[in-house]
Amino acid sequence: MFRKILIANRGEIACRVIDTCQRLGVATVAVYSDADRDARHVAVADQAVHIGGPAPKDSYLKGDTIIAAARAVGAEAIHPGYGFLSENPDFVEAVEAAGLVFIGPSARAIRAMGLKDAAKALMEKAGVPVVPGYHGADQSDELLADQAARIGYPVLIKAVAGGGGKGMRLVESPADFAAKLHSARGEAATAFGNSDVLVEKYVEKPRHIEMQIFGDGNRAVHLFERDCSLQRRHQKVIEEAPAPGMTADMRAAMGRAAVRAAEAIGYSGAGTVEFIVDASDGLRPDRFWFMEMNTRLQVEHPVTEAITGVDLVEWQLRVASGESLPAHQKDLSINGHAFEARLYAEDVPAGFLPATGRLTHLAFPPFARSETGVRPGDAISPWYDPMIAKIIVHAPTRAAALGRLAAALAATEVAGSVTNLDFLSSLARHPGFAAGDVDTGLIARDLDQLVAPLPVPAAIPALAVLAAAGFDRVAGPDRGFALWKPLRQTVQFETFVAEVECLGHDQFCVAVGNQQTVVERRCGDWWIAAEKLKARLVRIGDDISVFAGRAYHFRLIDPLARHSIGPASGLATSPMPGLVKALFVTPGQEVEVGERLAVLEAMKMEHTLTAARAGRVAEVFVDAGAQVEAGTALIRLEDEA
Ligand code: ADP
Ligand code: ADP
Ligand code: MG
Repeated sequence: MFRKILIANRGEIACRVIDTCQRLGVATVAVYSDADRDARHVAVADQAVHIGGPAPKDSYLKGDTIIAAARAVGAEAIHPGYGFLSENPDFVEAVEAAGLVFIGPSARAIRAMGLKDAAKALMEKAGVPVVPGYHGADQSDELLADQAARIGYPVLIKAVAGGGGKGMRLVESPADFAAKLHSARGEAATAFGNSDVLVEKYVEKPRHIEMQIFGDGNRAVHLFERDCSLQRRHQKVIEEAPAPGMTADMRAAMGRAAVRAAEAIGYSGAGTVEFIVDASDGLRPDRFWFMEMNTRLQVEHPVTEAITGVDLVEWQLRVASGESLPAHQKDLSINGHAFEARLYAEDVPAGFLPATGRLTHLAFPPFARSETGVRPGDAISPWYDPMIAKIIVHAPTRAAALGRLAAALAATEVAGSVTNLDFLSSLARHPGFAAGDVDTGLIARDLDQLVAPLPVPAAIPALAVLAAAGFDRVAGPDRGFALWKPLRQTVQFETFVAEVECLGHDQFCVAVGNQQTVVERRCGDWWIAAEKLKARLVRIGDDISVFAGRAYHFRLIDPLARHSIGPASGLATSPMPGLVKALFVTPGQEVEVGERLAVLEAMKMEHTLTAARAGRVAEVFVDAGAQVEAGTALIRLEDEA
């Protein structure tokens, strides 16, 4: 076994690899960009080397810099994680030329599977079923159109160098072929620098079922299948193992094909053979076809670990350090069922736009495995994939595991960024998914329902009001209610105003508009009459989150808040939309720390802006009486000398 390895990656996969290394007593070296100085993967590693700027091309894709770092710290091997350099055969060769071990397959194996057309040709030769189609060298428009007609519509155009669903177009009829070919080529050229495409039959009612394989260069085994059919725009959203409805015959046939694929290229390490399956008539052993092979560990590998009890990263380290395969096929078996959900910082109603933000609060339930590269307080930066975590659950049956997934998602708490949690929860409750009736079109078909905003139960704002008034922290039989708090308070959120009155021992009346709710604190929970509200209230600054199966966020407007000019920029901006009620300074004037600069009025409340540092006023951008948007620049101080 290695004594020390370097992990050429970041985020959750770097942390995941480090976990196993720690268990095996292998020292770990992280690498980090400027954006990741304080990242979790740096915090958990034994050593860390700075490798450059935040853009991947300036750091995590700089193979030479990473190899030099590995040599400088005395690491014996490099684990590439996934993405970045993990499927780059030139990097593998450079690692080996530097006298280090690449924890993964050979450059030759990666090359053999690197282009989809060549991989398909190779698999055909090895007797692995491939999707009927054309994957030849002649790329003329006419020939491709003829081939599409021969294959029969609908067809799929794919970039031979493609990945992540890029350069892929579904063509339903001959009339659309030319235009789709043109756009697929354009996208492929931009994304991969290679505009070659292949054309294949578009499989009806497609399911994505992939086999986890593992080789030692001589022999290979499979660790059963994963079903990744729950996709949005060809991107996996929820994965599971085993595949619902899988039969022993079909599994044996797919397993044999995957092992044949791996052994055909003398594969070493963890890999995945992806198949497309026609599920229009159930799962049948003659209806699966090779799509591509991913020559690395896969994002969704934990579901395989959950059902097999194998730590795939441990196997990677053992095989890369020279051991032979840790198990025979007959030693491997499936235990129970597992799901993985990918939790992203993304704005689902806005069309799944990637989001950024500081995760002011982050908590995962203890009954699920969570793989994450962030801690509470960490930022999701615009530089990298906006994944927050993967939530993995395991139970004896599929139904039990799905119930556990729903519970785990409901108990996952994130504040500070929008997330896809509600969307994942809706999926976990989707009746077709629960029935195991999955295909890659499920999400698109039911998207409207899956992203529909859910109503906010009336009790939720009342709980937010209690948190804002501070009654959540002082309640409890041992402490009584807070005598030092005013018994009646007004709470002003950005979206509504409420009155809260303490009625007596742990009993409160919350009035929002003309609706009054009496909330009680009993046995450590909140109650409205006989109904118990399982909720956690979290306040961070002016932000209040109510976690009650879903997350609800509220922002306070504190009438006493005094907004300061940031000392760094010296620029005062309007903290909210409102009216500039008064201006106290003019250009050239000297101000002291804490001196009043302006008063803003919004929602009938006054906010005083004060100077956070001393300085001279450089510019005043608005006049008294002006109506301003949130973020409007108001006053600038001269830069500090
Ligand atoms: P999977 O096949 O398991 O769904 P993907 O192929 O979508 O995984 O990608 C695996 C990981 O690699 C993801 O975290 C993704 O963000 C990352 N990734 C994909 N392509 C690239 C790339 N060109 N450069 C860097 N990271 C990438
Ligand atoms: P990528 O390299 O982007 O992962 P893949 O070839 O693995 O591309 O395909 C990605 C997804 O596209 C699959 O998971 C599946 O949803 C869909 N897909 C690919 N090939 C076919 C096909 N022949 N018929 C139907 N759907 C397909
Ligand atoms: Mg794929």
